[in-house]
Amino acid sequence: MKILNLPLARSRVDRAEHLRKDPIALEALWERAAVIHFDGEKFLTSGSALRMLKSYEAPDNGDEFFLGLDGEQPYFLFMSPQISGESENYKTLREMGALLDDLQIGLAVHAQGLANWHIKHPRCSACGAPTTPALGGSIRQCSHCAVEHYPRTDPAIIVLVKDQNDRILLGRQRVWPEHRFSTFAGFVETGESFEQCVSREVAEEAGVLVSDVKYLGSQPWPFPASLMIAFEATIVDPENARPDGQEIEEIHWFDRDSIVDEIMAGELLLPPKISVARAMIEAWYNLVPMPDGSARPQFDSLDPSALDSWRK
Ligand SMILES: [Zn+2]
Repeated sequence: MKILNLPLARSRVDRAEHLRKDPIALEALWERAAVIHFDGEKFLTSGSALRMLKSYEAPDNGDEFFLGLDGEQPYFLFMSPQISGESENYKTLREMGALLDDLQIGLAVHAQGLANWHIKHPRCSACGAPTTPALGGSIRQCSHCAVEHYPRTDPAIIVLVKDQNDRILLGRQRVWPEHRFSTFAGFVETGESFEQCVSREVAEEAGVLVSDVKYLGSQPWPFPASLMIAFEATIVDPENARPDGQEIEEIHWFDRDSIVDEIMAGELLLPPKISVARAMIEAWYNLVPMPDGSARPQFDSLDPSALDSWRK
């Protein structure tokens, strides 16, 4: 498959790193900024978009972090409790991520990852003293020993496992909603390469060895701090695949007909549209047209309540 266009990797914001070191420039940018408001879990929205405040509309108590420029327009994150009377207008990134345009999704993904990190790192890991935001919020600095702390990103691989007949293998975690199946994924461990992580995760969760590992793309996943690195991999012994019985309770092979049948029957709930897993499954599904050459019916148009299959 080709490198994927991933829903949370569409940012067009210029992070303008050179401006972070200039407090006077940052102050001037703040005065004319468009400001995203985030309460630690949810963003202030208007309809299906982020609502942009003027800097003077930001509440008194909170932190402002520079996110970057779009042309001449500066954007900031303002992190503070919800603005009173606005609670119904706050939404999570999971709820609205698929609806935002390229500018807003870039701002929201950056903002949420940065906010998550600031919230969890109030103290210095070297000496234990309080830390404060510096360089426009791109780092925190210790008030005692002056060590600079940088936001962390946790790499995780996600892999579409295929067999030599172009079927895909999906697994079900115990903790997921009923009928949810998805691709295999896991955090990269210390001292491990992406490719080694792909092999280890598939061996652990599905009991088989992969070959022919290919890179498909990456997207930030700030829940709370991941970067998902996507691959496809082939296995030569599909009959040996089995769930680990711990994290994965069930696995299932799908071809392009059976995946539609299972969705229509209400037996398969695909991962959400903002996920890498969904993008990989859709890209694989659309790669081969219908036998008559027409496009395949899109997953969103499949109604599980209409059991008279689209093929009849
Ligand atoms: Zn310190």
